[in-house]
Amino acid sequence: MTAQANISAAMALRSPASSSFWVRVLPFALLLVAALALPTLGDTYWTVIATRAAVYWVLVSGLNLIVGYAGQLAIGYVALLTIGAYTTSVLVEGNVSEPWGPFSALIAAGAIGGFFGLVVGLPALRLRTFYFAMATLGFATIVTQIALAWESVTGGGIGVPGPMMPAPFNSDTGLYYLCIGVATVATILTANVAHSRFGRGLIAIRDAEVAAEAYGISKPKLLAMVFVLAGALAGVAGGLFSSLQTYITPEAFTFELSVLFFISILIGGRSSILGPLLGTLILTVLPEIAAPLAAWSNFLYALLLLVIVLAIPGGIASLLDFGGRSPLPADRRIRPELDAVHQILAEVPQGGGISLKDLHLSFGGVKAINGVDLQIKAGQVHGLIGPNGSGKTTMLNVISGYYRPQAGSLMEDGTELPVGKPLQRAKRAFARTFQTPRMVGDTSVLKNVMAGGYTRANGTFLEAMFLSGRHRKDERRLRTMAELALRAVGLSHMAHVRADRLQHSELRFVEIARALMLQPRYLLLDEPAAGLTGDEIKRLGAIIKEISHCGTAVLLVEHHADLIFDICDHVTVLNLGTVLASGTPQEIRSHKEVVSAYLGA
Ligand code: ADP
Ligand code: MG
Repeated sequence: MTAQANISAAMALRSPASSSFWVRVLPFALLLVAALALPTLGDTYWTVIATRAAVYWVLVSGLNLIVGYAGQLAIGYVALLTIGAYTTSVLVEGNVSEPWGPFSALIAAGAIGGFFGLVVGLPALRLRTFYFAMATLGFATIVTQIALAWESVTGGGIGVPGPMMPAPFNSDTGLYYLCIGVATVATILTANVAHSRFGRGLIAIRDAEVAAEAYGISKPKLLAMVFVLAGALAGVAGGLFSSLQTYITPEAFTFELSVLFFISILIGGRSSILGPLLGTLILTVLPEIAAPLAAWSNFLYALLLLVIVLAIPGGIASLLDFGGRSPLPADRRIRPELDAVHQILAEVPQGGGISLKDLHLSFGGVKAINGVDLQIKAGQVHGLIGPNGSGKTTMLNVISGYYRPQAGSLMEDGTELPVGKPLQRAKRAFARTFQTPRMVGDTSVLKNVMAGGYTRANGTFLEAMFLSGRHRKDERRLRTMAELALRAVGLSHMAHVRADRLQHSELRFVEIARALMLQPRYLLLDEPAAGLTGDEIKRLGAIIKEISHCGTAVLLVEHHADLIFDICDHVTVLNLGTVLASGTPQEIRSHKEVVSAYLGA
């Protein structure tokens, strides 16, 4: 049976709807029911407050993908609310053309918001953390200044009326239901992205950027798509905001509002939709409740933020994560199932091997690699050993495209391999692990493994947003494969545990499972046995051997001589960036220089 047939067969056994889906959706359904019932209480004041919360959430839901998922500090997002509000109001007012209808104006606000979302976001690809945060703040200042100065269109300091929505949305309650409708759509679209391979990609960029690159997750492409989506949602939110305000001036778009959006996500928690939604509700409602204590409201606000950030750094989401606190399985032994390795790799076309010639790479004055030749053959385990600092990891980084060698050639199957382009390796079925495991701590082991299959799916970002059939099929296949990969390394029992609750040794096996998602023709392992017990090393050896039996070429960087001599077909010894010896394990074991310099007596 082929690997694809194996995976299809395993998919057929799965039940169609998982119960975890309904557990996830229930709190949102309850919130929606409460929201729909609110106007029946007959209190217009609270309906208006709730409308504002819904409008804010439309913006925050998109921003959450940028801040909470991708970890980019976009702090000046009020700018996009401003742009959306003015676009809608000015178009409906007819200051630049014939007056538009409110709904067409709202759609235009979304389109213009999407464009500027991309413009504000692009600096994130060059600027890191605080520099990016400052850039977004600068943008917010510019937008306000333009709104002030461009009097003929925006009315300058006097402002412009916000549009009245057509019936039945022309009352307080009507507008409220419209905003709840849009907020519901925004929640569904962003949740669909968050739970897709793109959502896993965003989190990987945030917490394991180098690993993300190795698995073909392109940060610029992925962020660009998310910036457009978040910008479009913020633009629509701006349009609704202007209708709610009935009249807008530049003063309506304060820095405090921008902070509110940002902090809603901070107190809500990362990698969560429900947390930031509750965060937005709390921050919108809190000033109203605290109103009788007017003098104290700022104080209470600051106190809440401090308490949450200090006492529960994971935010509201971590309080709600009941599964994350459930006891771990009592028996945590790692039991690899070698037949699962075989099922994943069966009939993966063999590679022609990798051939490196006369490689040179220096860091400043340090010659990390100094004229190294290396042949890695399909179906073999090639051991790479040597003392610390001898250039093993550097070799691995050159092969995986991460480092650009200064001289030498790098061929796969007779063709030149592109250098300095790590993103392209995943498509060529190169997989790797890291000397220190690179995982996303706050998502499940299963999702971490699924992230390895990012490039093994066809559905586009839009298809993920709207849950196309092809996207759903991709997701089912990735999940089935990840379950198979976890069986292969013997960690099925940990699939739904947060990765940061695992032991170091378990993470090493998870990294191999993630590598299997690429159905690798080349597997590069950087000290996979470090920190493992003798028993675990034996199991690891069996997995690696099985992988090579399926035709994959394995490069094994290791310190444990036992493992190397047990499973390698060929061993290369590095010292100070040059090859000290190369041969079969028997030859290396009796090589005089190697024994005296490295293996010891
Ligand atoms: P090994 O994995 O065999 O322990 P490495 O390949 O990590 O060794 O390092 C080889 C040499 O290159 C060391 O002297 C190390 O300090 C140096 N080196 C590795 N990476 C870098 C880097 N990014 N910048 C500067 N020096 C580096
Ligand atoms: Mg190393």
